[in-house]
Amino acid sequence: MAAAAAALTIVAAVLVWPHAKNAGPVIPAFLPVFATWVTLTEGLTALLLWTQYVVSGRLLFAALSGAYAFTSVIAAIQLLVFPGIFSTTGLLGAGPQTAIWIWVFWHGGFPVLVTASLVGRSIPSTLGRRARGRAVVVGAVAIAIALCALASAGQSHLPSLVAQSGSYAQLSSSPAALIVEAMCLAALGCHLSATRLRSLMDLWLAVALLGTLIDVTLTLSASARYSVGWYAARGASMVSSSAVLGMLIYETTGLYRRLSETHRTLVETSARDGLTGVFNRAYFDERFAREFSFARASNQPLCVLLIDVDHFKQYNDMFGHLAGDKCLRQVSGALAGTLRRQGDVVARYGGEEFVVVLAGCEPTAGLRVAESLRAAVEKLAIPSASPDGGPVTVSIGLATSFSNTGESATALLGLADAALYRAKARGRNRVVDDIAGEATAIVIPASAERFGH
Ligand code: GH3
Ligand code: MG
Ligand code: MG
Repeated sequence: MAAAAAALTIVAAVLVWPHAKNAGPVIPAFLPVFATWVTLTEGLTALLLWTQYVVSGRLLFAALSGAYAFTSVIAAIQLLVFPGIFSTTGLLGAGPQTAIWIWVFWHGGFPVLVTASLVGRSIPSTLGRRARGRAVVVGAVAIAIALCALASAGQSHLPSLVAQSGSYAQLSSSPAALIVEAMCLAALGCHLSATRLRSLMDLWLAVALLGTLIDVTLTLSASARYSVGWYAARGASMVSSSAVLGMLIYETTGLYRRLSETHRTLVETSARDGLTGVFNRAYFDERFAREFSFARASNQPLCVLLIDVDHFKQYNDMFGHLAGDKCLRQVSGALAGTLRRQGDVVARYGGEEFVVVLAGCEPTAGLRVAESLRAAVEKLAIPSASPDGGPVTVSIGLATSFSNTGESATALLGLADAALYRAKARGRNRVVDDIAGEATAIVIPASAERFGH
């Protein structure tokens, strides 16, 4: 895109070149629009470069911010002093030579300040980091104001460059023109050789410097205000002032996108258990409290299932902890794969214990789900350490909350835990619920897996 912008600007300049001196229509609205555009784009660029400096601490950004602040201020002042815009002769005590001298300082100053940014970033200083950055920007703005004051108050001491008619042929043949042109060329050359266009910033700054060079060349060859070349030069100036801003906005947008993606991934991974990939305890605690309050408020039942792998210590002792980890992954996979409803949550409660929350689920449906979870683990047929040679199994304790019972979320979990202990005591590999405080072991055929809840 930078190459295309540069190529288009060059092609447009070459096409306009033979007609540069032709008089164009005098459009009084053009200059205010142009100057406002430049003031705003250069000012915004200065602001964004300043934020880059604050974040990165690289003095180069503060210096470039200063160069853009210089141009923004000087473009705004030039608009105020330009004859025929706010008053016939221009504001701020301007004389006929003020606007054109401001143009000279503007177009000589910007390339000099950009080149100084490249050189000056490595100059040692006794000032602190933040103070240096501030000094650079304030200094650049002060230079802009001082030069404008010189062009206004000191105009009698400056050579005359523009005639009453708006012709500035005197400028085109003056040493000032040569100096400005040489500065633009030198700045572009220095920038290309020093940076070798390694970063996006280097690339778009080169487009900005090229825009300034074309602006100056066309302006000087046009020799009169409101000529074809003069208008085209202002077009090149607008390209120059917008190049770095466009890149910074594009980059900032991309940065926001990447940041929100990273944030989403971070939130997602921070809620997951590292070993099994199901939700972790911290997420469960927060989610369970939320589901419990919601169930209360909306008068809905809520089932909680505590699931514990049977004889898992023996399993580890016999097959080792790595095999134990693999077994936990398989078990959690079977649990997660068995839950059908969108809002059902399975989390690792700790060690070889898992917890399942079923929102809006009646106890009978909860029992069916619990049984299908138990059966799903059994169906994995992971060889266990038990002497009978049976597979790895789980015991499940189930508790249901109703809006008319007074228990808290913690108490509900305690009921599920008590039910789980009863399941263990009754021989493991079974589901026990807490209805009426009475443990009820249920046996549901394997076909129960087909039932939803
Ligand atoms: P029970 O049937 O009564 O539940 O017996 P158990 O052996 O499963 O119960 P216990 O609580 O005594 O043992 C749990 C074991 O789970 C102890 C520990 O070695 C194992 N364990 C806990 N977390 C992990 C883990 O992340 N990976 C592995 N491999 N083992 C774990
Ligand atoms: Mg346990
Ligand atoms: Mg266990």
